Amino acid sequence: MPIASSSTSLNPEPVPDLDTPKPPPLKKHQTQVSCLGRLYKYHFLLNALQNAEILDDFGQYFEILGSLLLEHEANPSVDKPCACGRLGMKATTHCHDCTGYRTACESCFIDAHLCNPFHWAEVWDNAQGFFIRHDISKLSPIRHGSEAEHLSKANHIIQLGHNGKECPSPCGETLFTIVDDNGIHSTRLAFCGCHELPPNKVDQLMRSQLFPATTRQPETAFTFNMLKRFQLHNLESKKAAYDYLGAIRRLTDNSFTADVVNPYAAFLRVVRVFNYLTSKKRAGQFHSIDLILAHRPPGNLIVWCPACPEPGFNSDPNCPETPHSLRHLNQSQRTLDGNFQCNQFNKNTDPDDVSLCAGKGYFPLDSEYKKYLAGVPVSKEKSNCNYLKAVNKQDKKKQDHPVPGRRSTDPGSSVCVPHYPYAKFKD
Ligand SMILES: [Zn+2]
Ligand SMILES: [Zn+2]
Ligand SMILES: [Zn+2]
Repeated sequence: MPIASSSTSLNPEPVPDLDTPKPPPLKKHQTQVSCLGRLYKYHFLLNALQNAEILDDFGQYFEILGSLLLEHEANPSVDKPCACGRLGMKATTHCHDCTGYRTACESCFIDAHLCNPFHWAEVWDNAQGFFIRHDISKLSPIRHGSEAEHLSKANHIIQLGHNGKECPSPCGETLFTIVDDNGIHSTRLAFCGCHELPPNKVDQLMRSQLFPATTRQPETAFTFNMLKRFQLHNLESKKAAYDYLGAIRRLTDNSFTADVVNPYAAFLRVVRVFNYLTSKKRAGQFHSIDLILAHRPPGNLIVWCPACPEPGFNSDPNCPETPHSLRHLNQSQRTLDGNFQCNQFNKNTDPDDVSLCAGKGYFPLDSEYKKYLAGVPVSKEKSNCNYLKAVNKQDKKKQDHPVPGRRSTDPGSSVCVPHYPYAKFKD
């Protein structure tokens, strides 16, 4: 049988159906809707056929996990007598910052949080039927009276200098703003008057791991934990101070965030001081490390590359006698790089501001650098390479088109080649 005839019998020519009325031609938007519909169907089918790992794992647990999440929004033991057995005390207060905290009375919450005063107290509201978040200073403890325990009218006060316990001579009780990594607390704080009057507030705050926003009559402080976390968020995920503090404010109240105090200006100031002090601590400057590492610049805050050979410190003492073929083992390599597009403009900050590092860190002292620049002639070097325009542009911004308001331009850096720690920046 000829192939052509076989092919014809399998695929007969379509016979036009003249009896069935044809649907009207689709308009443009109808065609798009129809295409989308097909696309959704396709995705639906694909999802049904796909066996996603996440659904394999969690799919059948969504309902259970959801109800377990909801369990934390209420508690069956709420409003029942507290397990402490104190007369009339009901279990009303919960802590979500603790792991496995048993809902208890306000007094038990205070006792359990003398050294964790910035955990939020979730107090059950009978009328509304949910927990309401309070600072610990809104709770009332039981005072131990001479005859019987009684509920004090006075709210709890965070006492410094006595590990949270009562001070025989408290003083300077004040309303304080404490910024912790779980939110911003308006809390009541008392200083210890046992040793000196008036109390040294900065000293007492720092000993309680609270960094004051100012050294003059502080009323705001940031917990060390919060500052340490921001340092890592900032360095690791490049999170700005504004965004980090925004998240902290939302942790305080995610519904009425605008009503939460905004200590942004104080935070910027404190972060700067905290980072400077941390770098001094890490560089060993608080322990007079210059006496031991006398070959380094005095007051050094740079992270010195530990692998690069430094004469008389970690290099071969017989270095000058090293055979020529092995000299590469003792050499230190540096590379210089510049960015001729990068500028920093004047900012809306203190015009008299100065660097806290004062030339001991990665940037040199401004006055010394300007003095050095004054003796450096304008470069006449021109690049012949079509693709390398940086060399030709390097002095253009400074000399030909000075822009008012530009504070610095064209930063350059020196990097240790094999190990990569930065050695110095210049601009
Ligand atoms: Zn807690
Ligand atoms: Zn209790
Ligand atoms: Zn005291």
